[in-house]
Amino acid sequence: MGNWASAQGHQDFREASISGQWIQWFIFILFTLLHGVISETIRALDIMAKYPLIDGHNDLALQLRIHHHNKLSLLDSHNIPLVATDISRLKAGRVGGQVFAAYVLCTAQDKDAVRLALEQIDVIRRLCTENPGLELVTTAEGFNNSKNSTKITCLISVEGGHTIDSSLPALRMFYQLGVRSMALTHTCNTPWAESSSKIYQHYQRKSNSLTEFGKAVVSEMNRLGMLVDLSHSSWETARAVLKHSAAPIIFSHSSAYAVCNNTRNVPDDLLLRLKENGGLIMVNFYSDFVACSNKANVSVVADHFDHIKRVVGAESIGIGADFDGAHGFPQGLEDVSKYPALISELISRGWTEKELAGVLRLNFIRVFRKVEKVRDGMLKTSPSEVEIPFLEANNSCRVILTRPVRTESSHQNHKSPLLPVRALAWFIPIFVQLIYY
Ligand SMILES: [Zn+2]
Repeated sequence: MGNWASAQGHQDFREASISGQWIQWFIFILFTLLHGVISETIRALDIMAKYPLIDGHNDLALQLRIHHHNKLSLLDSHNIPLVATDISRLKAGRVGGQVFAAYVLCTAQDKDAVRLALEQIDVIRRLCTENPGLELVTTAEGFNNSKNSTKITCLISVEGGHTIDSSLPALRMFYQLGVRSMALTHTCNTPWAESSSKIYQHYQRKSNSLTEFGKAVVSEMNRLGMLVDLSHSSWETARAVLKHSAAPIIFSHSSAYAVCNNTRNVPDDLLLRLKENGGLIMVNFYSDFVACSNKANVSVVADHFDHIKRVVGAESIGIGADFDGAHGFPQGLEDVSKYPALISELISRGWTEKELAGVLRLNFIRVFRKVEKVRDGMLKTSPSEVEIPFLEANNSCRVILTRPVRTESSHQNHKSPLLPVRALAWFIPIFVQLIYY
């Protein structure tokens, strides 16, 4: 009995000791994991303090129109309801620069797209010039100078070439208002470039993804020093633009097709051409584009970064999250305050500080500078006076500004109302003479 009790006690002791060891291991592993996560988060915040993010695409202006009718006077820009972007959250997300899109619905094509674009440019300009926390810039140097500033720099882009109504003078006027980037299409074709989407029937074509006028648009953007943005363009249009453009181009908010086969994303062969061109793909976070479903997480977004790095290197990558441009962002990346979670994940996957510095801001500044250098090399080139052939942009709202030709019949018709008056003028004096004489 005594021996049995002793053996049992020994057994209990061994079991207690084994389970104690398991608890110790569990705590150790948990501590190690937690320590890893905490140290990666601290490192991410440290790197982002040195290299504040420049994000390539944000649709806050669209949401300001939808939810707040662009009435900035009624809003606190540090805390804007119903949107994913405001100054407080941009600061929490370590954002140092933001490209804001003046986006116009494709249903406005050939209607009032130009007016709507002007209104969106106006609201971005007001947002970025009336707030002491923001600063509107128009040059790569403007971003560079802002590195140590407490202000968040803004750049204006236009999303959708339908906003220029096939007019190079309109494009130049957008430039004068501070626009430095334009996506050639949104979800509709323009008369001169093709969209990745087939939703709208406007200007459908079987070939010729970039017409002669489309090439003139790209050349004029090169001459002005505007970033040509191929997000939303069809792959054929992207290939044609990459062949034609004298300057590097960007995909301001697109991800890797090899990871999620959505046509808004960029296939590997295009990534390789992009690398030759010296351009940039700024990765989109929208769940449908990163996971091909409405459920995604930080890890699947990081998969796009890993893939693109494997194909073309980290120097071709940026971030264009597309916040406020869609509903359904990954868990952990729901708004502009969450960028550090992604950087932390990339650190855990072995991304170096140099690579991350490029992804966060330096790659974008390098590409913008190159675009400006191409502009400087074209200073002697005059503004283009190319016009789109009328038949290529034929629509009911387009007025032909020519003097109406007067035909013989219209000449007579024009005179005919006067005939009774002239006859009366002859008749009255004769009638008066007849009475008196
Ligand atoms: Zn978009």
